[in-house]
Amino acid sequence: MKKIQSEDDLIKFIKRKSCSPKSPYGIGDDAALLKAAPNCVITTDFLVEGVDFKKGEDPKGIGRKVLGMNLSDLAAMGAEPGQALLYAAFPKKNSISSWRRFLKGWNELAKKYKVSLIGGDLSQADRWMIGAVCIGTVKKGKLFTRSKARNGDLLFVTGKLGGSILRKHLNFEPRVRESLFLRENFPVSSCIDLSDGLGLDLPRLLQSSRKGARIQLDQIPISQDAKRLSDKAGKSLIERAFQDGEDFELLFTLSPQYEKKLMQRWRKRFNTPLTMIGDITAKRKIECFIKNQKRSFPQTLWKGFDHFQ
Ligand SMILES: [Mg+2]
Repeated sequence: MKKIQSEDDLIKFIKRKSCSPKSPYGIGDDAALLKAAPNCVITTDFLVEGVDFKKGEDPKGIGRKVLGMNLSDLAAMGAEPGQALLYAAFPKKNSISSWRRFLKGWNELAKKYKVSLIGGDLSQADRWMIGAVCIGTVKKGKLFTRSKARNGDLLFVTGKLGGSILRKHLNFEPRVRESLFLRENFPVSSCIDLSDGLGLDLPRLLQSSRKGARIQLDQIPISQDAKRLSDKAGKSLIERAFQDGEDFELLFTLSPQYEKKLMQRWRKRFNTPLTMIGDITAKRKIECFIKNQKRSFPQTLWKGFDHFQ
């Protein structure tokens, strides 16, 4: 029997064997455009106790995360959040107080980004499994996808990367406002949210766009928590920034003519850092540089490298 190699492989298999239209209507971006309402995109994400979070974790953090990761996917599409469905299976013995905590976390983001809960479904299981479906609206001609990066475009990343396991993975801020600002002011050519780490999500974006990239390693913004973790464990800082995952930052491309204007306006508007980390090339490979000197780079850093070939 053939083993499932990776999540991406399974997704490709399902896409191939099912009735799934091409992106942006089907599988292949952070959310899908709705055929019935072409100004709407839809996405879903769910969490399983013991896999995505520890047993005994504060449900408030889970509530925030379940909605936050969906909002991050909407942000990756340039969509304004609107409505959500919530689905959960959980052990019978749970009391209403865990739901109270869960909703407290959920509402932190729902209020801030004006998301109404419009339905869902509940069932029983031997552990918590909880997810959401989120719908957002997009503007005609301003939908972000993974597939339209052009040669010479610059690659930008929001926030700082790595070490999210210490705090950020339950407490991140989905980049909804930043995404809407970009949508209104700049012709972003492609975008993805960093859920599995730059080392996996950058190759996903490049593969969709059929492009390569030159990455300036010394420009990668690294979080304080990644530094804290690297002191303790053997992983290098750059490995943490590429592999840790759950950063929920935006990685996007934009023509270089907008760089100066983007940086100026961004600094006035947001505290969220924004960093230019490289550029897009026609050669379908990833090249790394430190202070403009080409460096060979362990390919193991690119978890998605195999798919990229
Ligand atoms: Mg995503």
